[in-house]
Amino acid sequence: MSVPKFRNIKIKAYKPGKSGINKNKKYIKLSANESSLGVSTNVKKIFKNKNLFLHRYPDSKSKDLRSAISKELKCDYNKIICGAGSDEIIQLICQLYLNRNDEVILPEYSFLMYRIYSKIIGAKVLFSKEVDFKISVKNILKKVTKKTKIVFIANPNNPTGTYLNKKELISLRKKLNKKILLVIDDAYHEYNLKKDFISGLKLFKRSKNVFILRTFSKLYGLASLRIGWGYGDKKIINALYQIKPPFNVNMFAERCAVEAISDKGFVKKSVRYNTFWGNKIKNSFLKYNISSNEIVCNFLLLNFKKCKISSKLFMKKLFNNKIIVRNLEEYKIKNCLRLSIGNSIENKYLLKVVKKIFKNV
Ligand SMILES: *Cc1c(COP(=O)(O)O)cnc(C)c1O
Repeated sequence: MSVPKFRNIKIKAYKPGKSGINKNKKYIKLSANESSLGVSTNVKKIFKNKNLFLHRYPDSKSKDLRSAISKELKCDYNKIICGAGSDEIIQLICQLYLNRNDEVILPEYSFLMYRIYSKIIGAKVLFSKEVDFKISVKNILKKVTKKTKIVFIANPNNPTGTYLNKKELISLRKKLNKKILLVIDDAYHEYNLKKDFISGLKLFKRSKNVFILRTFSKLYGLASLRIGWGYGDKKIINALYQIKPPFNVNMFAERCAVEAISDKGFVKKSVRYNTFWGNKIKNSFLKYNISSNEIVCNFLLLNFKKCKISSKLFMKKLFNNKIIVRNLEEYKIKNCLRLSIGNSIENKYLLKVVKKIFKNV
């Protein structure tokens, strides 16, 4: 029987960090960089509210959330667009900028959604080499051609846990052709306390050719509600509003995000907690010759190069003890694992299990 034909798109679909949630609640999930402290208590109050008007469509322009963001982060209300996760904003940016055969440059180890959405449009994705798991400005510039439309970077980067400092960011923008859009994904910026670090939003608030991505999925703990936002020149934002699905952000997501961003205490507490546990876990792993990145985000890229067991065996042993971490095969990073910082009960249990594992090898 002949049937309508659809486009043949050559991509590997995104595989989320393994989750044990549905099958067995006892698993400890340290594979998706989710918030270790859950959500702000202010967020929880929203679900107790009885007058939710579920039968009404949500606000298509997320005005309350944009007001809250613009007030809290001192940025321009008119330059903000909200989406169902920053994920959706990445998709919209690709739809807006890319034609078939245009080129996109990504650091070789970068968030998988950049390549997926670029390829769906039919753009060509070029990967720039990193140096010791760090983005190289020089190698990005080497990949530029007349067809380059967008350069995506996450800073700090997932899954490597490294970052470009302020000087390096400025140099990248300066040396990159002005007509190429630089997208900086600030997903983990809150966790980075290094003095030479600056978030994309802070540095490029007024830029016309830098676009910023932000999410509520990580530190703020709203991953399941799907809420994130983009920030850029008004002309870009207006064009994005023309193509976005009208009710992409649901009412719960918007209201929870307003509460989340207004609770500065929760942000501070989460960051302090992350730095403390991140360093503790990093140092414990060093004892077994497993090295990792500095604590500038809420996860560790564990490198087993000098360790007496392989990352694969270690992951299996963790799993046997009901701990799930992220394997990095899709990223083509060998003999490494990505471990999210959990809550204190999870972290203590993890360290106990690791000790046990190395006693027996
Ligand atoms: C987790 C993550 C995001 C968040 O995506 P959402 O769609 O907002 O949940 C974005 N960028 C990077 C680099 C991430 O690691």
